[in-house]
Amino acid sequence: MSTAHLTINLHSLTHNWRALDAKTDVETGAVVKADAYGLGAEPVAWALAEEGVRKFFVAAAEEGAIVREAVGPGPMVAIFSGHMEGDADLLRKHDLTPLINSPEQFKRHREALPDHRFGIQLDSGMNRLGLEPADWAELRHDALALDPLVVMSHLACGDEAEHPMNQQQLQTFKQMTNGVLVPRSLAATGGTLLGPEFHFDFCRPGIGLYGGMPFAGAKPVVTVDLPVIQVRDVAMGETVGYGNSWTARRPSKIATVAAGYADGLHRAIGGGIDTFAGDQPCPVVGRISMDLITVDVTDLPYKPDRLRILNGHQTVDDLAEAAGTIGYEILTSLGSRYSRGYVE
Ligand SMILES: *Cc1c(COP(=O)(O)O)cnc(C)c1O
Repeated sequence: MSTAHLTINLHSLTHNWRALDAKTDVETGAVVKADAYGLGAEPVAWALAEEGVRKFFVAAAEEGAIVREAVGPGPMVAIFSGHMEGDADLLRKHDLTPLINSPEQFKRHREALPDHRFGIQLDSGMNRLGLEPADWAELRHDALALDPLVVMSHLACGDEAEHPMNQQQLQTFKQMTNGVLVPRSLAATGGTLLGPEFHFDFCRPGIGLYGGMPFAGAKPVVTVDLPVIQVRDVAMGETVGYGNSWTARRPSKIATVAAGYADGLHRAIGGGIDTFAGDQPCPVVGRISMDLITVDVTDLPYKPDRLRILNGHQTVDDLAEAAGTIGYEILTSLGSRYSRGYVE
């Protein structure tokens, strides 16, 4: 092993999907955008389809083509960015469902693919994607006459249970979809946990499937192993790494492992992070470099071949907190240099 290794546990993934599904009385889809949050759209979508997922969501038509390939004909594969210029061939060829975001997209879709089913994305207050209330009022009659597959919107603060924005968007979404008979959806992972009012006809979690907050009950899905390149003795008073940011307070053994901020282990991950030899924590010391991390293995009775930085003890959210970001960004940053393995 000469590069860092990512192990994705598809059992834990499908366990998390079932656990989220069990929290509602409605259907549960899956968001697999950005290469399934960096974990591999093909194996992830395939495993979820085997588990019974019938509604998949991605950001762009190109991603949808990959997911269609993995899940085969049948399940809906919907595109959050809708029908963009030049998408018609991909949408038709791979039977993708664009979520129409604007009057322009509606017009484009009607002209390019008049017989192709679509969905509707509404803006209930986030002001990012979707039809504004006024545009929807104008389009609603024509759009509903074409029997869209879904009508959905997205919460801006769904991971903060007490935030008043949730109730505000819920009321707006209800008003905008009053009398609509098409399947409706408002909830991602956060909304799924907010309670039945937010569930409508189906939920569409992403991060919770991959072991991230706000789904506190998630099983960890990813482990990351870093190969040790060398171990050196460092005398008391010597420093380690760029900027001399760590000084040995005792004679120390320092392991240098092959991964760094170019692999998504952000330089901003400061102190307080460990790597693990089995269950034994070994603290990261000194600055994280582009391709290298230094670890204090003085208390380890043997020379390790590899150290694990993500596991059940230290999660994506622990790394995120140390870096001042969110688990989503840690997952999607895990770079292309990793070798990958899947536990089925
Ligand atoms: C990313 C996304 C989701 C999934 O969100 P999670 O917080 O990862 O569960 C759902 N809906 C939309 C519109 C999204 O952009």
